[in-house]
Amino acid sequence: MQRINFVLFLLMFGVSYLSAQITDPKATEVWTPVPRVVTPGSGSLAPSDAIVLFDGTNWKEWQSARDISAVTWTLQEGAGTVKPGAGDILSRRSFGDVQLHLEFRTPEVVKGEGQGRGNSGVFLQNRYEVQVLDGYENRTYSNGQTGSIYKQSIPLVNACRKPGEWQSYDMLYTAPRFNADGMLTAPARITVLHNGVVIQLNTEIKGPTEYIGLPVYQAHGKGPIKLQDHGDLVSYRNIWVREL
Ligand code: MG
Repeated sequence: MQRINFVLFLLMFGVSYLSAQITDPKATEVWTPVPRVVTPGSGSLAPSDAIVLFDGTNWKEWQSARDISAVTWTLQEGAGTVKPGAGDILSRRSFGDVQLHLEFRTPEVVKGEGQGRGNSGVFLQNRYEVQVLDGYENRTYSNGQTGSIYKQSIPLVNACRKPGEWQSYDMLYTAPRFNADGMLTAPARITVLHNGVVIQLNTEIKGPTEYIGLPVYQAHGKGPIKLQDHGDLVSYRNIWVREL
């Protein structure tokens, strides 16, 4: 034991002796690799390396979740609006780790309450829902309010704008990892900014979103982004994603 302690002491002494020997600031400069250049976006302009999934003019990047047919949600004035009954829609592309930006608007004319008011949702990898809801002066269960990881994680604050106003989500999402046997080795994690305010900070996702019961992970690969038809006239615009 004493010998191990002595070896440890020698090692630590050696490291601190070496770092004490560095006197040139250039010795700790790292010049490679060089990060590639990305032109930042602004307003409705996405960053130069983003994949634009929806610019308000067409649904070519999307398909019906029900039967993979063309999307029939309404297109109007640079926005797409849920067509109640038409069902959820899926991005045609599949993703793993992403930065996702989107803007949404719940109906200006308030109808219903709780979960029945401006309900939709953004599902990462077709499984994990960040709740979209009109949460402005509208109480519901906290783990189901706007910006919750539905039925799993309460948002840190309520940053909702008034009904009828455009709002934004910016998400940083790390997909779950599974080993070759399909066992979970790292859960999904997500950070969400709602209208620029952090509402989920590196939140651990416990498994696929369940309306009833507890979530259980099942191994999967990349998956599409899903937007939910919950029967309310929620609109979307300016959806882009950057693969990480
Ligand atoms: Mg929802």
